Amino acid sequence: MKQPRILVIYTGGTIGMIEDQSTRTLRPFDFSHLMENVPKVKMLDYEIDNFQFHPPIDSSDMSIAHWQQMARIIDGNYSRYDGFVVLHGTDTMAYTASALSFMLRGLNRPVIITGSQLPIGEVRTDGEENLITALQIAAARDADGLPMVREVAILFENYLWRGNRSSKRSADNFNAFKSNNYPALARIGLGIEYNLEALMRPAPDSQLNVVYDFDPSVAIVDLFPGLSRVTLNHILYTPGLKGIVLRTYGAGNCPTANWFIDAIKDAIARGIIILNVTQCFHGSVSPNRYVSADILSAAGVLSGYDITCEAAITKMMSLFGRGLRHDQVIEALRQPLQGEMTVR
Ligand code: ASP
Repeated sequence: MKQPRILVIYTGGTIGMIEDQSTRTLRPFDFSHLMENVPKVKMLDYEIDNFQFHPPIDSSDMSIAHWQQMARIIDGNYSRYDGFVVLHGTDTMAYTASALSFMLRGLNRPVIITGSQLPIGEVRTDGEENLITALQIAAARDADGLPMVREVAILFENYLWRGNRSSKRSADNFNAFKSNNYPALARIGLGIEYNLEALMRPAPDSQLNVVYDFDPSVAIVDLFPGLSRVTLNHILYTPGLKGIVLRTYGAGNCPTANWFIDAIKDAIARGIIILNVTQCFHGSVSPNRYVSADILSAAGVLSGYDITCEAAITKMMSLFGRGLRHDQVIEALRQPLQGEMTVR
């Protein structure tokens, strides 16, 4: 068996941060610092190369340009490596995982994103274990010798999750991520137990075709009792707006007041595409279960079923970025493109 070749893309995040002695705040630091703190990586007997963002960033500064940079690195090195590990801050990791899943069409190699809650230099860091496990998953092969994971996934502490199904659920727990509507792709304990039924299985001969463009002419509207007509209309009349992710209550419900429904209908009549996503951590939009959700779907609001908000907004930006026609964007939002939702 040849030595696995892994490319580590270090974007920043807590995993590589060090404490600034004067201000006592954490700031991103370089890749060599990170590797010096994990001497065990050498025991893996892998060929590991790295690409570092200059400067490494706190992931709250993540942007479309950074996603494009990551995709370019993967695209340009695709045939040379067996897998890719992306080291990333946890704050926007679920957005990056979702965005990459829509960009890297035809992917049939592992892109494993990880980070940590404590910097790698700290005694109780979770970064060391996360980095080593991510490398092992990126190198893992199935019984046919194909990569075990052929999709974008997030590895954190005890679980491997589908990237576009994940959300950050804790600011301090080591198990910081969860996919509420899709099973874990693997459980990490004494060993790494893969869930073969949950893993994506693209055709072995599928070719990587990266879609780089995003159009950020979108917004997220989060419902709350008290949301005013002025605020809603202000957002819906944003110049150039093309799409809205509407975060609704429960099974996809919204206020039934005429002003609210009229504002939604007016936006749809002006060509704005609206996707209904539930605020609940678990479960799906059921467009016809309650009167209010039924009104939304009758008005032309699309059901996002059990999609996460992170996947919904990145999917919309990616579809608009592709320059598709209005009806093509609607068609693509109705169906899963990369295993990001379950249509009921
Ligand atoms: N603010 C950090 C980041 O997202 C948090 C972390 O990495 O956990 O970059």
